[in-house]
Amino acid sequence: MKINVIGAGLGGLLSAASLAIEGHEIEVFERLPITGGRFTNIEYHGFSLSTGALHMIPHGSTGPLGNLLKKIGADVEIVPCEPMAMIRIPANGSNNYKSGFKDISFNQFGSQFSMWNRLKLAILLVTTRRWPPKNISFENWIRKYLNEDSAHKTANSFCGWALSLTNRDVPAEEAFEIFENLYRYGGTGIPMGGCKGVTDALVEIIRSNGGKIHTNTEVSRIIVENNTARGVIADGNKHYSDVVISNIGHPFTRDLYDSYTINNAYEEKIDNVKSSAGIKTCLAADEPLIGHNGILLTPYCRRVNGINEVTNTDPNLAPPGKHLVMAHQSVRQEKIDKLEEEIEIGLQDLKEVFPNKKYEVILTQSYYDGWPVNRASSGSDIGNTTPINSLYVVGDGAKGKGGIEVEGVALGVMNTLDIIKQ
Ligand code: FAD
Repeated sequence: MKINVIGAGLGGLLSAASLAIEGHEIEVFERLPITGGRFTNIEYHGFSLSTGALHMIPHGSTGPLGNLLKKIGADVEIVPCEPMAMIRIPANGSNNYKSGFKDISFNQFGSQFSMWNRLKLAILLVTTRRWPPKNISFENWIRKYLNEDSAHKTANSFCGWALSLTNRDVPAEEAFEIFENLYRYGGTGIPMGGCKGVTDALVEIIRSNGGKIHTNTEVSRIIVENNTARGVIADGNKHYSDVVISNIGHPFTRDLYDSYTINNAYEEKIDNVKSSAGIKTCLAADEPLIGHNGILLTPYCRRVNGINEVTNTDPNLAPPGKHLVMAHQSVRQEKIDKLEEEIEIGLQDLKEVFPNKKYEVILTQSYYDGWPVNRASSGSDIGNTTPINSLYVVGDGAKGKGGIEVEGVALGVMNTLDIIKQ
């Protein structure tokens, strides 16, 4: 089959590489001069910063992405994070880090709770696996069963770090599917070479199997005939194919074609897709600020949800002797026009989290609208098919259930491949 792919982000490259090794004729069209989308590196004075992701793979080498990379023979080493995550909690029951703090393991998060809530938590950990909650937000679920400030703060910090949302925006059902995936696949990992280590390996597979990748080439239309995708128009030229895979989310994909019959149910679903926004701050330090390669969740910050220090796994992501530390904070939609204030509060947070430490802020990036943290925030994904035959959507605008970020991208790609092969 001839397959055209719109976009060379992780979703597009994973689909293209998986299909290229099966002998399909692949052409990928990417409007930027580089491949990798929000999952590649930006070199800055010897630091490998990134176009998006924090160089982390949520379920490491044993999750959906790690397994798919292995299956297609991608040459990527993913190092497990030990510990997976720590939680920074204030000293003396305070509500902030100003008078000191200690770090506890993520698995011990219940130790902050009252005796009664610890008992309830132990029971809930078993019962929710059997009877996952439905039709309630994660925030309201916590309010109902564990009404404790530290539980709200920790859940917010986790949702902010992993999904760039508050627990108010995450359906409890999706949150528990994510926890189920943590049991199923295990915790985080860091790819050697950072995000670029992954996407470059996919580019290599596509090219070595005869696939073509056109950078600086924007797709302006999807050719649709008889309600079936027949190819794309890129740089004014028609490129015909049997299948079109779009890596740009449902709403932007929908803007690229005319259809004679309006599918109201699909249009309504598209209107409900919400992206998630965030701010990433990159710090350079001469000494480790965290000292391990896992996530440091910071529930008592005003804005920063969590921080990592990837140079504890791959020192080559910074110049010799230096450390690269990245902080993430989610941004609510109503704060997008106040980004500078949000960045300033985040920088103040970092001073509290790292008192008496010397570091330099080397980059602050904000992500929203067409270049968000997630094209479809977790829980608002609408699947990989479209009302147009042979037109599919992959990437973080069409993730699989419970799939955190790139794991959701991999689940969505696998689902799409299964449908195409039927
Ligand atoms: P994209 O990377 O956006 O790819 C889409 C591509 O399509 C882009 O290259 C774009 O230029 C191209 N394109 C758009 N329109 C057209 C057109 N008309 N024609 C041709 N090309 C077009 N995930 C993790 O798992 N771990 C993390 O640590 C992590 N941290 C994150 C931190 C931040 C701050 C952000 C922003 C994201 C983070 N993520 C993380 C999420 C992760 O980066 C994304 O889920 C993933 O990169 C999305 O890949 P994608 O292929 O769906 O989309």
